Amino acid sequence: MTARDWTADRESVFDRDAFTCRHCETVGDDATALRLSPVGDVPREGTVHESALVTVCADCFETLETAPATPSATAETLFHRVRETTRLQGATISDVATFASLSTSLPATLESACDDGTEVDSDAVSNYRRTRRDVLLAIAIVDAHLEELAALEPAVAPDVRPSLEAFTETATALQSRLVEAVELSETVVSALERCHGCFDSLEGQTCSTCGLEACETAAWHHPGESIAFDRLFGTINETLQDASETTDTLTDRATALATQLTAEL
Ligand SMILES: [Zn+2]
Ligand SMILES: [Zn+2]
Repeated sequence: MTARDWTADRESVFDRDAFTCRHCETVGDDATALRLSPVGDVPREGTVHESALVTVCADCFETLETAPATPSATAETLFHRVRETTRLQGATISDVATFASLSTSLPATLESACDDGTEVDSDAVSNYRRTRRDVLLAIAIVDAHLEELAALEPAVAPDVRPSLEAFTETATALQSRLVEAVELSETVVSALERCHGCFDSLEGQTCSTCGLEACETAAWHHPGESIAFDRLFGTINETLQDASETTDTLTDRATALATQLTAEL
């Protein structure tokens, strides 16, 4: 990964996240250096808006930023890594579902704020931003674990390799479904003329607060002007349904691989 030449208000992000890693909940103190990790599409230089930054501990930062080494792939190492990847991806599925359900509730939330003539509640805004950051971080962590598994493949015993490949292939397919569900959920926010990163009002295609490009909403317009939210929500649900079906296949493949590895322990 290339170094980015960006700046940010580090202390205020740490403070917002209560000096706690948003992935593993390690609390930073003098002994534990905290780091910032960007999520989503962030500019490669200049100031990164706090809505696109998460606090992570040094270990999680290393998982995210360091290219995987190729250690010896004992059956035991592999067994633990597959189990850990499965556990993290399982948790990510529910994070994505939570984000999708939050996003699909936003049209009603905005409408009622509009009816009352009030601004959208700032708690609702920070909740949206946090939920999005957490889900993007969770996906990035699983990606990093899958890269580690892929790096192990050449070192794996030939008889185990096909099962490992089948497992990583399905886990990667599941990742794509999850990313798709997140992007569709973000599209809901763009369709509401809000930035899907910082949630500020959007005028034009680029957010003037955080610099994020709005999601493409053209596919979701009714022939007139309004957005076909029902169709968009339906597609989000179908994508989540696909993800859950992929999970069934993944469980079978993880079990097959674990059985094979256990025999070698
Ligand atoms: Zn951590
Ligand atoms: Zn923005």
